[in-house]
Amino acid sequence: MSSLTKNPERSEPVEENSAPRAKLYSLPPLGYHYYAFEPVLSSEMVDLHYNAHHAAYVKGANQAVEDLAEARSSGRYDSIAQLERNLAFNFSGHVLHSLLWRNLSPNGGGAPDGELAEEIERHFGSFAALKAQLNAVCTTLQGSGWGVLSWDPLGRRLLVEQVFDHQNNIGRCTLPVLVIDMWEHAYYLQFRNRKNEWLAAYWQLIDWHDAARRFALVRQAGIGL
Ligand code: MN
Repeated sequence: MSSLTKNPERSEPVEENSAPRAKLYSLPPLGYHYYAFEPVLSSEMVDLHYNAHHAAYVKGANQAVEDLAEARSSGRYDSIAQLERNLAFNFSGHVLHSLLWRNLSPNGGGAPDGELAEEIERHFGSFAALKAQLNAVCTTLQGSGWGVLSWDPLGRRLLVEQVFDHQNNIGRCTLPVLVIDMWEHAYYLQFRNRKNEWLAAYWQLIDWHDAARRFALVRQAGIGL
């Protein structure tokens, strides 16, 4: 028998193509009930936001990754630009919504303390100044988007970003700490066009412990520059 037929690598099952694998991205557990924020936020709005909108981004991100794998295996790149747009949009939507649910708590509100509070004072002057900038960013979006408090690992400082859709108008290496969803689906069911009321409700529910935990993590990040 030749050594070729006994090649053990040939007889191993190819795991990547043999069994169905779990999806890459999944809807994270909320950790609270849809009605946890009543009466500030309606359970109907949280339910719809999570199960319809966020779930769609999870599905879209997984689909984009699968479509890109299919393009590679078939060598057909005629739709590559659209697939890359689908990936950026849906993956970013999934990340931002995952952050959104963690940023909220039925016991939230108040103001940050500890190192996050110190950094906010250092970079914005005061917590009130940060809040004013974020509110301005959120109420002046042209179309759908987010207000985001981010850590910039290059300048090693906090920044406020006005994000278009989920993936545009962002500095390349920033890491989000706190996000505010200004898509109409986030507030319209309950607040109609009253963005200021949605923002006032949101500030009442921000979980500063979650923001502080994430801030401690992202400060450790480097990009080798
Ligand atoms: Mn949303």
